[in-house]
Amino acid sequence: KTILAIETSCDETAVALVRDGKELLSNVVSSQVEIHRRFGGVVPEVASRRHVEQMTFLLEEALQQAQIKAEEVDAVAVTQGPGLVGALLIGVTAAKTLAYSLGVPVIPVHHVAGHIYANQLVGEMQFPLVSLVVSGGHTELILMEDHYDFERLGQTRDDAAGEAYDKVARLLELSYPGGPVIDQLAQKGKVTYNFPRAWLEPGSLDFSFSGLKTAVKNAIQSEQEVVVEDVAASFQTAVLDVLVEKTRRAVEQTGVRQLIVAGGVSANTELRRRLQSYARETGVTLSLPPLELCTDNAAMIAAAAYYAEQKGIKAGLDLNADPSLPLE
Ligand code: ATP
Ligand code: MG
Ligand code: FE
Repeated sequence: KTILAIETSCDETAVALVRDGKELLSNVVSSQVEIHRRFGGVVPEVASRRHVEQMTFLLEEALQQAQIKAEEVDAVAVTQGPGLVGALLIGVTAAKTLAYSLGVPVIPVHHVAGHIYANQLVGEMQFPLVSLVVSGGHTELILMEDHYDFERLGQTRDDAAGEAYDKVARLLELSYPGGPVIDQLAQKGKVTYNFPRAWLEPGSLDFSFSGLKTAVKNAIQSEQEVVVEDVAASFQTAVLDVLVEKTRRAVEQTGVRQLIVAGGVSANTELRRRLQSYARETGVTLSLPPLELCTDNAAMIAAAAYYAEQKGIKAGLDLNADPSLPLE
């Protein structure tokens, strides 16, 4: 079964073709990051317009790279939500139009499910498993007993991890997006600040990063000369201490044998290193997708769609974008 997927939830326009939920045939991503950089973040109206401009070209490009004719596509998958409503609408409209013209079904996919299923493109998911989802808009620990079956164990109560990286980068007057820049700077810095770690109530697997952001802000403002690398290293350590420890607890409490990681922040060098050493120490099987599958792409949406459809998820031509679509 060949699925063509479209992803437009934020500022990446992406189209991909995947066979049987596993085999990557093509994966085309047009990032708007250069366009939004001068605004210091994503401007929704600009993102929507750009999705419209790019869509036809990307559809052709994805089919061409996969060497597949449109008529050979068995289903069209699309990110239904969550995300920017105007941006999502472009993808949903394109998907419905294409599916209608080809006479194939539309499969709506949750964006976070997509991030999780990036892992299925690099190996077989082994259930039950725990997934750490760390992206620009989400920070969650999710238990999966089976395909396309999600139980949330914990989530952020305020900022997402990626959002914290982006906000701290802005405080440090670094470029957007902040994650990759802080990742690089932190490697050259020393942990000189003892920033707060939000452990929350005992036993809680929830996260909170807004207090940390405020602590960084106060530290920067109260100092004459700020060593950016040291602030980056100290901030990152505070984030990762909590992320990695709560992930460890989630794995132990559930007794799963596989840990999979998803979302843009899983591109982080130090997070990957820490999770790899945790996996080595405990024998837990770790799945870390390559960087290009961690950040937004449509291949992950196609992979998720294959399993979503097996669970009976499909849509008609009345499908609408849902900016606050729930995962569970
Ligand atoms: P969501 O998936 O929750 O809707 P999103 O799609 O915007 O949000 P992703 O594309 O998955 O998020 O990830 C983008 C985020 O990942 C940004 O916040 C970015 O700063 C962060 N990020 C990317 N690379 C790194 C890195 N090396 N270290 C830390 N954070 C990173
Ligand atoms: Mg993005
Ligand atoms: Fe994302």
